[in-house]
Amino acid sequence: MSQSDTLFEQASQYIPGGVNSPVRAFKGVGGTPIFFKQAEGAYLWDEDDKRYIDYVGSWGPMILGHAAPAVIEAIRDQLTHGTGYGAPSSTETAMARKICEMVPSVDMVRMTNSGTEATMSAVRLARGYTGRDRILKFEGNYHGHVDSLLVKAGSGALTLGQPNSPGIPKALAEQTLTATFNDLESVETIFQEYGSEIAGIIVEPVAGNMNCVPPVAGFLEGLREICDRHGSVLIFDEVMSGFRVAPGGAQERYGVTPDLTALGKIIGGGLPVGALGGRRDIMSHLAPLGPVYQAGTLSGNPLAMRAGLATLEGLSQPGFHDQLEQRTRKLMDGFAAIADKHGIPLKVQGAGGMFGLFFTDQPEVTRFEHVVNCDTERFGRFFHAMLEQGVYLAPAAFEAGFVSGAHTEADIEATLQAADNAMAQL
Ligand code: PLP
Repeated sequence: MSQSDTLFEQASQYIPGGVNSPVRAFKGVGGTPIFFKQAEGAYLWDEDDKRYIDYVGSWGPMILGHAAPAVIEAIRDQLTHGTGYGAPSSTETAMARKICEMVPSVDMVRMTNSGTEATMSAVRLARGYTGRDRILKFEGNYHGHVDSLLVKAGSGALTLGQPNSPGIPKALAEQTLTATFNDLESVETIFQEYGSEIAGIIVEPVAGNMNCVPPVAGFLEGLREICDRHGSVLIFDEVMSGFRVAPGGAQERYGVTPDLTALGKIIGGGLPVGALGGRRDIMSHLAPLGPVYQAGTLSGNPLAMRAGLATLEGLSQPGFHDQLEQRTRKLMDGFAAIADKHGIPLKVQGAGGMFGLFFTDQPEVTRFEHVVNCDTERFGRFFHAMLEQGVYLAPAAFEAGFVSGAHTEADIEATLQAADNAMAQL
């Protein structure tokens, strides 16, 4: 019995399902979750001292690699000044300024403690600003566990087959309209019926919770145009894509400007953070400037701000994203070539430092229906064969993979060697 087996048994006595977030539970791939005790650079070490090359990166934040020296140093330095004040500090302004400089559409920022809080607040602000109640989202997009947005959601909710969670009032869920990602016609149809009642569209501009599905040409532009035509707010959920698919996120990569942006993950450098940013006139509706209430005891926490700022500084270094994308591309091309060699139908797609593997012979994977038609059972076998060889992929077929600046060419090559062995067994 491994240490992880023992620890999972203990955890399960005190924590529902033994985990503090469902997708960690390995339900999508079977087996026992691995318990880790150490992380550095591109690697994780489990409780049995086995080393893994990590492509989860704490689900996205670790874009510089684990325990990046500049991040650790910033946290260490802040610790000597206290862990929080519950009052303004200059690090909050430094963080807000940095986000405004990097993310094209953002004039003002409000910090939160998670991506969920960021999307929840974005939806409330869109509703408060427009005086409308309905929200349009896309099937398979996940925006955290916000009541209004946990309808036809992706990621853990998809893995568990509970796209509509009990506990969400029907009356509230009815205010959430669901369209098909990468299908503008489905959006037009809904707007024809409800246009004047829709406060906003929320979208993952690069979907990362139905595995990794980039937007097709014209999709994001079309959403912008529809929102303009109907006076609705366009919200990009860049909790995952922000700072990862380009320094300024998907809005920079694809040249489409949303009204509001939800951020998270990377801006906390591994500590719990989210943020909501956008147009000055809309952001000015937030309390205390305006009437839309939003708050947080620990929001703007200086430890988290310092860790996030150090991360943003790190990824702002010249050439960072070029190298990240080139390494990710090498990994993706390698997976595709190896699958081809073994006669295994595999589609590989990604953007910037994100990638997705789809075991399928469908000609394209651009929509939710394509994603759910992939061979998840085969993914499970691939996942375990990789795990055995010390490569940690996300433990579910519906999750994107993440490469960090700490992954070396040698790490990528070792991963591809493991994939070659794994695919020989599939
Ligand atoms: N939005 C997106 C696109 C996400 O991927 C996630 C989390 O994975 C969230 C929102 C929720 O963020 P958090 O888990 O920090 O609440």
